[in-house]
Amino acid sequence: MGARHGADVIQRLQEHPMEIWHRGHQVQDVTTEPGFANGVKSLAELYDVQWEEPDLMLFDSPTTGEKVGRSFMIPKTKEELMSVGRMMKRWADHAMGMMGRAPDYLNRAISAFAGGADFLSQQDPRFGDNIRNYHAYMRENDLCLTHTLINPQANRSVGPARQADPFLAARVKEETDAGIVIKGARMLATLPISDEIMVFPSTLLRSTEEDAPYAFAFAIPNATPGLKFICRESVDYGRNHYDHPLGSRFEEMDAVVIFDDVFVPWERVFMYRDVEACNKAYIATGAVVHMAHQVVCKNIAKTEFLLGLVSLMIDAIGIERFQHIHEKTAEIWINLETMKAFRRVAEVDAQLNEFGVMTPAWDPLDAARNLYPRLYPRMIEIVQQIGASGLVAMPTLADVNGPLAEEIKKYYQSARLDALERIPLFRLAWDTALSAFASRQVLYERYFFGDPVRMATALFHNHDRTEYMDKVRAFLKRNIEEAMEGEPA
Ligand SMILES: Cc1cc2nc3c(=O)[nH]c(=O)nc-3n(C[C@H](O)[C@H](O)[C@H](O)COP(=O)(O)OP(=O)(O)OC[C@H]3O[C@@H](n4cnc5c(N)ncnc54)[C@H](O)[C@@H]3O)c2cc1C
Repeated sequence: MGARHGADVIQRLQEHPMEIWHRGHQVQDVTTEPGFANGVKSLAELYDVQWEEPDLMLFDSPTTGEKVGRSFMIPKTKEELMSVGRMMKRWADHAMGMMGRAPDYLNRAISAFAGGADFLSQQDPRFGDNIRNYHAYMRENDLCLTHTLINPQANRSVGPARQADPFLAARVKEETDAGIVIKGARMLATLPISDEIMVFPSTLLRSTEEDAPYAFAFAIPNATPGLKFICRESVDYGRNHYDHPLGSRFEEMDAVVIFDDVFVPWERVFMYRDVEACNKAYIATGAVVHMAHQVVCKNIAKTEFLLGLVSLMIDAIGIERFQHIHEKTAEIWINLETMKAFRRVAEVDAQLNEFGVMTPAWDPLDAARNLYPRLYPRMIEIVQQIGASGLVAMPTLADVNGPLAEEIKKYYQSARLDALERIPLFRLAWDTALSAFASRQVLYERYFFGDPVRMATALFHNHDRTEYMDKVRAFLKRNIEEAMEGEPA
């Protein structure tokens, strides 16, 4: 089939309805359901974008020669890796970084796992073959994934096996010649409006028999019998793009995933009951690095959007001469340049990994993924500080077209924009900084790549600081030696 168009995405979702619940009722068709349909439309648009700029967005399939999505590439050279980066930035720009789980995020994960398939083969040669076949299947059909990693937030003081019910967290219930049966739940999957789900290792498990049933990686269609998605309340209230410029377009949706005796055939299993392999897999295959590469491209797009938004607001209401406005704008600009630098260094310093995959440098990407959860909430605070009451003193389209239209034109004007220009700008600022869509984005960025506290702990343990300790040791030694030699105090 090769790279899809938007219409193909919508058609497939209609032909393969998943069991998805929203506000107490089962959604029959996510492509038409209020609260979902606009997110599906934005997702589909990404697939049309790839055909608008095929040279940038697509490449020739290594097996069929057909055009396929570039985010499925397993890069062998820096130029190939950078071409993936340019493609991901183009997709991120389409949603101004507001669709964090755009399909390229998990396309990069699956591509890296396939590139590092030998790691999975070490456990069982079938698993390496399975991931290679699955990657080719996803690439040739241009399918879109959601994923779920985390166990339900019931009792975090103990692992999944020690919860009140051993089947609270999704675990293996049965094993047959044909596959495994999974029962239980996983905490969250963003973009359930997709074709397939990656159910990959959860947060670190203990190497015990007790935890082994929770150690697995597989991928299955969202429409698999027994698989249920329970969604949070949609932040797309079904309003127009004027009133809810972001929420009415980029609602990805988040859902808890229930596995009600879900059958997974062996050919879709990539890791099984091997706690150590599960704990290592993201790092060992390089998947975390390629995913972080997508994330930094998304962060650049998002920060560019914030810089543009804030600059238009400043201009609109004539506050450009105040010093704290310069400082706040500079802060966003510095954040943008920081993210751009992280991406650039990660690409320029990329190296072939042990599986021959060109892999971005990890250190700058690890820094980026630890930093952005702090930068984003602060930038949203800046939008609030700059917009002030302008973020709430905003009429809707119905007001603009209603009986008070003339008054609105007069009282909502600003220094450089008339009311009809100013209102949509400040509604966009409201949907960026204040609405339900906005606050979900802040929470998302805080936890985008995991718990920032535990990510910092991982950073503490995984990055060697000996070189810097040696520098300080050498300086101390020099001081001691010189003091001992009798230098004057
Ligand atoms: C909007 C949104 C979208 C998401 N999308 C996805 C998705 O698509 N797929 C997916 O798999 N996940 C997704 N997640 C989940 C995300 O990976 C988790 O939020 C993140 O890993 C943190 O886990 P938790 O939410 O279970 O928090 P918890 O682990 O429940 O943490 C709660 C609090 O306790 C503290 N805490 C808990 N345990 C420890 C510990 N051992 N050491 C120190 N502190 C601890 C945390 O620091 C935190 O303050 C999403 C989350 C959000 C908010």
